[in-house]
Amino acid sequence: SRRRSSVIVIGAGVSGISAAKVLAENGVEDLVILEASDRIGGRIRNERFGGVSAELGAGWIAGVGGKEANPVWELASQSGLRTCFSDYSNARYNIYDRSGKIFPSGVAADSYKKAVDSAIQNLKNLEDNDDSINVTSEHHSAPKTPIELAIDFILHDFEMAEVEPISTYVDFGEREFLVADERGYVHLLHKMAEEFLFTSDDKIMDSRLQLNKVVREIQHSRNGVVVVKTEDGCVYEANYVILSASIGVLQSDLISFKPPLPRWKTEAIEKCDVMVYTKIFLKFPYKFWPCGPEKEFFIYAHERRGYYTFWQHMENAYPGSNILVVTLTNGESKRVEAQSDEETLEEAMEVLRDMFGPSIPNATDILVPRWWNNRFQRGSYSNYPIISDNQVVNSIKAPVGRIFFTGEHTSEKFNGYVHGGYLAGIDTGKTLVEKMNKEKERDSENQNQN
Ligand code: FAD
Repeated sequence: SRRRSSVIVIGAGVSGISAAKVLAENGVEDLVILEASDRIGGRIRNERFGGVSAELGAGWIAGVGGKEANPVWELASQSGLRTCFSDYSNARYNIYDRSGKIFPSGVAADSYKKAVDSAIQNLKNLEDNDDSINVTSEHHSAPKTPIELAIDFILHDFEMAEVEPISTYVDFGEREFLVADERGYVHLLHKMAEEFLFTSDDKIMDSRLQLNKVVREIQHSRNGVVVVKTEDGCVYEANYVILSASIGVLQSDLISFKPPLPRWKTEAIEKCDVMVYTKIFLKFPYKFWPCGPEKEFFIYAHERRGYYTFWQHMENAYPGSNILVVTLTNGESKRVEAQSDEETLEEAMEVLRDMFGPSIPNATDILVPRWWNNRFQRGSYSNYPIISDNQVVNSIKAPVGRIFFTGEHTSEKFNGYVHGGYLAGIDTGKTLVEKMNKEKERDSENQNQN
């Protein structure tokens, strides 16, 4: 059977929900949201782990306390989401070597400054487009020792804000708040959904939200209806589609387009890098790491870049939880996704014994998210090459006929963040509403003429 509506929104992450809300608020009630997984939230997702709520995807509200209000921070305040301030700045003073010694703060500060300076220099060379300088200076300052590698990893995979201005921190402020709420970060999405979808007992009971609907094919033409087919054989028709699947999914073959997307579109999609970011949660019978606010983050310096480098204890968020989180990225994320959780647990324990001695207790539980192998995600977030013109993101965002694109990867200023997805959804929703209104006007003019 075919189901007909005005608009189909593909994906119920933050961007899909915010786009659908804008449509509903502007009179487009006749919409369907098709979500591949069994829940809303997408990359905002929590699971019970070790007695608390673990955020497998987005964990922080980034960009708070600045000249403009971060809209996600406002949503969090309105809905009473519990958060706690995260102070990353101390991480660099808690760098352990493999024998468990903490590098003296002077040494750490010097290495950090050196790394920031060289990153700024590299960026300048790139901007000047002078490859010869770039190559030599990179050779000159390439990180080699474990502490240099650790700092290089922290700087490039976490804290680029110190090297180049990042709109999130410039516009919204430099503070970051960790979501520490048993209802999860996703509570914000439930609150948003409640405003336009029918809910009962905190459950969305509205047939406009269709879960477990994996879109596999989109048939489109400039003037006819768009036909969307799902894996379970259902067919949906609409005048317009808003597609919010991630950049990783767009790069994969999950959804086929008939006719195929134009070259300018697919080429732009290929130009955007996909970052993989993995937070591994470990539960212990008791604490053996130093606690307190300046100790929340600590770093392990190993000769392999990114090898279980960045650690956080959960005692500020959930006192008494005895949980540590270690973050891996890109190559290390993919490596760990491909092995068993037992192997990962053993590796992590060996690292912890290096730092805290042989007598620490084994972790009793481990949680390893697999964003790279999730076919509805294929990565954690978009990363535009540092020197890329806005043309790439504009092409990724531009509609193709009746298919509109949204998602964090379509946000020129805030890609990679929850607020990027949220604002992109609003933007795409508004653009489509305008287009539909114009079409309506044209239709009624035509009718008057006839
Ligand atoms: P998504 O949330 O991915 O939504 C897209 C939806 O489309 C998904 O639900 C997916 O299941 C669905 N879908 C995909 N393909 C199909 C299909 N074929 N048919 C139907 N449905 C489909 N941001 C921050 O601000 N702070 C952080 O601390 C932070 N940390 C992060 C850590 C990790 C590990 C990850 C993964 C992300 C993190 N982010 C963070 C980024 C943030 O989570 C994302 O930018 C944001 O949630 C993306 O929202 P979206 O709506 O664009 O995409």
